[in-house]
Amino acid sequence: MLDVIIVGAGFAGLSAALDLANAGLKICLLEAQDRVGGKVESAVLSGGQRIDTGGQFFSRDMINLMNLIQGTGREVATTHYTGNTAYQPAISAEAGEAQWKGVSALRRRMAGTDTANPELAGLSVSDWVARQHDMPPEATEGFLRMVKGLWCKDPAEVQFLYLADNDRRITGSHSEMEMFLPGTVHALAEEMAARLGTDLKFNTPVRRIIYEADRVSVEAEGSRLQAKRLVLALPPTVAGRLEYSPPLLPSLQKALAAWSPGEAIKIRVTFDRPFWRDHGLSGEIMWSMPQGLYACDASDNRHAGLAVFIGGPEAKQWHRRPKRELKAFISSQLREIFGTAATDIRDIHIRDWVDDRWSGGAYSDVIVIPDATDAEDILRRGHKPIYFASSELALSFPGYMEGAMVAGRTVAKDVLGDLPASDYHTRAAFR
Ligand SMILES: Cc1cc2nc3c(=O)[nH]c(=O)nc-3n(C[C@H](O)[C@H](O)[C@H](O)COP(=O)(O)OP(=O)(O)OC[C@H]3O[C@@H](n4cnc5c(N)ncnc54)[C@H](O)[C@@H]3O)c2cc1C
Repeated sequence: MLDVIIVGAGFAGLSAALDLANAGLKICLLEAQDRVGGKVESAVLSGGQRIDTGGQFFSRDMINLMNLIQGTGREVATTHYTGNTAYQPAISAEAGEAQWKGVSALRRRMAGTDTANPELAGLSVSDWVARQHDMPPEATEGFLRMVKGLWCKDPAEVQFLYLADNDRRITGSHSEMEMFLPGTVHALAEEMAARLGTDLKFNTPVRRIIYEADRVSVEAEGSRLQAKRLVLALPPTVAGRLEYSPPLLPSLQKALAAWSPGEAIKIRVTFDRPFWRDHGLSGEIMWSMPQGLYACDASDNRHAGLAVFIGGPEAKQWHRRPKRELKAFISSQLREIFGTAATDIRDIHIRDWVDDRWSGGAYSDVIVIPDATDAEDILRRGHKPIYFASSELALSFPGYMEGAMVAGRTVAKDVLGDLPASDYHTRAAFR
């Protein structure tokens, strides 16, 4: 019998599996797809450039990810933010700055709220914003747009108490878009996977979990595995779709049902050169209409391009339409913003994550059920022999790649604390 089965080879599952294997446990990591990385994924463009189509950016505050990158000796690229931001529709730099100050003030107010205040229970983010009567409309409207862009969900659906707590756990002092990896962060996930060797099984979607106090069986396509413990390194909505025998405790069922996946589309627009820099522009674009769109310069020394993100209701709307219409829309927006220089687009690559089969959506699941403030704690506790780990549950950087690593490593510690050390210490010494 195995010591631990881990389901899901995103950054959470890979991190948990590596820590557990390094401690000497007999593990098996099961992945539904034919690749690792989950919401970290890549594509190769017609010109041969490999790009991240999912998670990409990070900052020096993300310690686990930085250590991992440093350990592989990879060079990081710094995101280019020198120059002016472009606004769509166009406004002056001063007006843009004032808008951003208002949004930041509201975000600080949210961070400072007393989440135990009963008057806040059950409020959606839109409800809470509507009560901020002293704030100017550009601050409240900008704040709602930010929620669509960052949490990729309609603020009328997102629970305010969830958002306030979630935002407090994004603890960095540097922009989370500070850096990226020219060779893709997905290649980093592949390196983690290579260290696991045959302990990782691809194309093995788990469907059913049968458990008792001290053992668990996992049924995947055509196979059944047994272990002492199980780590479900899956977003809550995805873990909620599995069949459990016996059924999970009602509190766990409710905690898994509290979430809904974000809705995001990531677009990469490739150019021959970053021409916007010649005009004093940084490449950053803030849209106020349509809402939930954002772009930044994603060029490295060899390739020029913009990463464009669409989040929330706007992404949901584009999800239903043909990709060629979205390509035409993005081209026309960039021409409007940058002028004729933007006509020489080399390539537009679209990755639509809305209703994604294996991840649910992007950038993460969010809590949409009113009385579920304890959902995260309940999932973090799990129910022996089942543990839950995914970026959503991380105490720092939830919803980010760093959060996935934190969640995976935290669960690995919990499992190690729970199994007798005699089960693994000797094996670890021989690895
Ligand atoms: C477009 C986009 C842009 C993003 N940008 C950034 C960014 O710039 N910076 C950043 O830090 N974060 C970013 N994120 C978020 C980040 O990628 C995620 O928070 C993180 O990768 C989640 O990791 P995870 O391991 O928790 O979950 P996931 O990555 O969702 O991994 C879950 C894994 O489980 C597998 N699986 C699902 N069901 C089963 C099953 N039944 N059996 C077996 N396996 C199963 C899936 O295939 C997947 O591999 C972005 C995400 C997206 C999609």
